[in-house]
Formats: sequence, C-alpha cells, structure tokens
Amino acid sequence: MNQTGHGAIAAMAVNVLKQDGGAPELVGLLKEKLQTCLIGSWIPDLPYSKLGSGFTDNHIFKIFPYQPEPGKPDDSQYFVVSEKKLLDSLGSRAMVGFISGKLDKKWWDTPYKADPSPGKHLANRAMAVSIAIKDILIMGDEELAKKVPGEVNIGQPMELFHPAHAALFFFMLSHFSADCCMPCHCDHRDLFSSPPKGTPTMEKKTYLHCAMEEQWGDELGKEFTFDGLKGASVSTPRDPQTFLDAAGRAFQRVDIKLADFPNPIPDIKAKDIWSEMVTVCRGSFALANLMVPASDYGFPKRDAKGKMVDSEDPRITFDQAFSKPGRPSFPEITKVVLHDAVLNTAMLWKSIWRKFKEK
Ligand SMILES: [Zn+2]
Repeated sequence: MNQTGHGAIAAMAVNVLKQDGGAPELVGLLKEKLQTCLIGSWIPDLPYSKLGSGFTDNHIFKIFPYQPEPGKPDDSQYFVVSEKKLLDSLGSRAMVGFISGKLDKKWWDTPYKADPSPGKHLANRAMAVSIAIKDILIMGDEELAKKVPGEVNIGQPMELFHPAHAALFFFMLSHFSADCCMPCHCDHRDLFSSPPKGTPTMEKKTYLHCAMEEQWGDELGKEFTFDGLKGASVSTPRDPQTFLDAAGRAFQRVDIKLADFPNPIPDIKAKDIWSEMVTVCRGSFALANLMVPASDYGFPKRDAKGKMVDSEDPRITFDQAFSKPGRPSFPEITKVVLHDAVLNTAMLWKSIWRKFKEK
C-alpha cells in the first residue's frame, strides 16, 4: 500500500474499533492523537526507518514451493497446511470465502517456505512493535496510565511515555498488519519488481504490485487526503472525526461499509501476534496464487536447499493478471484485501488492549 492506502486503512480501523465498542479508551487515544500520529502508519516505508534492517525489500514474507530432498533430514523450516486448518485459523477474514474450494489438492499438498532475514521478516516486525506497545502502556505518564484499563503498576511512578508515543506505535503496527494482507508481499515470484530506473511513472503503473497499490491509493485518496496530516499544517488542529468520516467515505468507494466488519471484533486465534501474522501471510499467498496461478507465471527454480538456481521470470503486469476470464477481478481482490487489512489491524490492536483488560 502507498501512504494514502496505509493512512486510510488505519483510520478505518479506528472506525471499526469504535463500532465494536469494547475498547473506548483505545478509540479515544487513537482519535485524540490521529492528526499528529497517523504518520506512524506509513513510517515503516520511509527510507530512514529501513536503515536498521537494510534499504531493500523490507518487511515481507515471500513464500515459495519447497521440496525437501527425499530421505535427507531437512534443516530448514517449511510448511504444509491443509485448506481446512488454514481457513479455520483465518476466522472471519474476507479472504476465507474467497480462497475456499478454489485451489486444488496438489496446491495444498505442496510444501512451502519463506526465508526473509530476521530484520525484514514481516511477522518479526509486527511482534516487535506489539511488544514495544505493551511496554509503552506499562511505563506511561499519568495521562496515558489513566487510559490503560486496570491498574498498571510496576512499583514506581513512570513518566517515560506519553499518549502520543502509544498512538504512534499502534499506527506503526497497522502498517505491518496491512502489508501482510497484500498478496504480492507474500509471494516470492517477482510480482513486485521496482521497474528499471528511469521508467516513466505511467509505465510504472503497469507492473502488478505497483499498479494495484497506486490504484487503491488513487481511489481511497478521492476522499481520504493528507490535508492537515503532514508537514506544517499539522500545527492547525482539525477535528479528528473529519479524518474518520473521510476514511468511511473512502472505503465506500471500494464497496466496503462499516457494517461489513464483524461486530464484535474477533480475537486473534494464534497464540501470539507473530503466529497470527504468518497465518495471514499464508492466506495472502493463497490469494496471490488465485490471482496469478503458477501455471501462468512460475516460481523461479531452486535447489534442494532452497537457493535460487535460475533468474526470475520477466515481470508480470496488471493487465496480464486481471485480463483472463474466470480469474478474480481487480474489484473483487480490492474488496478482500482492503477489508482484511482493516480488520486485521483492528484485531491486533484489540488483542493488545484485551490483555490489559483481562489481567
Ligand atoms: Zn510496507
């Protein structure tokens, strides 16, 4: 997603959390700080925030088919997960209905793996931010402590973190939770491909990943704009409700209404945010394979250790992916991906907040 996409998704997730009604203090916190902190939802894509883990190909979980050598003990992790198990774990996400029954047995029986380095690993990044959020909530100043449910007591008053710190990190988590719903982030084929240097902007938009994200940004951006969010204009306070209303209207443009989201928001099914993220990445990988079947556009060949042995196929374009009859249409994929990006964000946020309520 581009910046507009990420901002609109995070603002819409606040609307979904508000509709749920179970975490009014968190809604209050995110709303109150929205104008200054929504930038967190796109900070992870800014070049400087990538310094810690390398400039290229950050926070992804790109999956590819992986066949361990017969008879030899395998030293790398891979997965085979049944359709039923994966779809059950994905719960009420829109991708479930979309994937169900559409991929054959061979696809489900194939072992897959992903091999991002630790700092680039999408689930690692989400987990790290979620733990940082919990620490911020525990060590907040008086104003923040008042918002956190229950008594937060670590033995002495802490004045380290203010409500804006917490809001900023919640919005940063929304970035990773949205990225894992984007099919192209979860498939190792060259669906992304920064176009070669010097490619004119118009032509850039023909490549699948870029084209999808640009179109989402353009469509959502007709209602949800950065006016008042970025740069000097932040010093002019604006009613945060105007941003939330704009996000609601932006999502209506892609046929997604507040009523489409489960209410109450379900809890995550996995034991932690890391595992939940990996599950969603697997669902997004399945979605990518429906959008672009391997019979059309293959995976690069690899040796038994998973190392790539030939160069990748030429890049795939938006038209190649969406022009074939019988394939998912772009509006259908849009509806699934953007719905799940919002729901996933609301689910992860609430799962963190719930911990404080339950303790
Ligand atoms: Zn990103």
